[in-house]
Amino acid sequence: MILAFFYVEYIMINIKNSPINSVTFQDKKFLVKRDDLLHKDFSGNKARKFFYFLEKEFPHTDTLVSHGSNQSNAMYSLSVLAKLKNWKFIYYTNHMPSYLKENPQGNYKYALQNGMNLIIDEEFSKENIDKNKTTLFIEEGGALEEACYGLELLAKEISEYKELHKIDNLKVFLPSGTGTTALFLQRYLDIEVLTCACVGDASYLKKQFLYLELDESKHPTIYETKKKYHFGKLYKENYIVWKELHLETTIEFDLLYDPIGWNTLLNNFDDSYRYLYIHQGGLIGNESMLQRYIHKYGL
Ligand SMILES: *Cc1c(COP(=O)(O)O)cnc(C)c1O
Repeated sequence: MILAFFYVEYIMINIKNSPINSVTFQDKKFLVKRDDLLHKDFSGNKARKFFYFLEKEFPHTDTLVSHGSNQSNAMYSLSVLAKLKNWKFIYYTNHMPSYLKENPQGNYKYALQNGMNLIIDEEFSKENIDKNKTTLFIEEGGALEEACYGLELLAKEISEYKELHKIDNLKVFLPSGTGTTALFLQRYLDIEVLTCACVGDASYLKKQFLYLELDESKHPTIYETKKKYHFGKLYKENYIVWKELHLETTIEFDLLYDPIGWNTLLNNFDDSYRYLYIHQGGLIGNESMLQRYIHKYGL
């Protein structure tokens, strides 16, 4: 008789209670919520947004489907989720530069290693996805109601910290893409949440908020950025602030959102408040961003 042993890998992903560090940057004091440290494979705000799908049982699901850019942080995090859950992962993108295809790096490289099936389709439309019982469809960037599950936990950690350290003048700052993280944090926090748009401009971000929450009194405060940034484009000033942050705080931030976030926070800094900056992860994406910065500016 043959005994088959099935080794079920027990995955302990503790994505709760990331540390909060005190740092000084440009002679100002900040607190930083280290969601980049949640777990080496599943971190940042994508881990918070997808926590619901990690924790809940989906007995009928065998395939995860999503879409978005070819270097997205969400794509990578979903590839980890699919692997942990033993789901097939299909990801649609409408564009793939030949350079990246031939030299996979960053999120793209590691998502492929996790078994991602990439479909490049210029005419991709999410309406055409076959959404059946065995398919779980996740909106681009994780802009969906289920994201509130993990973000409620993050809000709780922040509130507890505020109570414990008796910080009455605390404000929370984080840069936005879809705005989902900022919006849901504000829903669960009675602390003002401040943000800025890294994709599109403030009016685009406002629309995103309205899509998830009609009551404007529950929206985060949007700070205008100094100029309109094109998402994913390289700006020397972004690299410079990123590098200074790394030197002064010893924390590596993300190169896509965080430089815009920090510059905007510094421009609006008011020393009657204490600011908690949320580090939303995304460091795997730095690999390809740094390559591009080096290539463009010879840094
Ligand atoms: C995805 C992401 C964001 C944007 O999050 P939204 O919830 O879409 O606003 C910000 N920072 C990092 C590092 C991210 O990966």
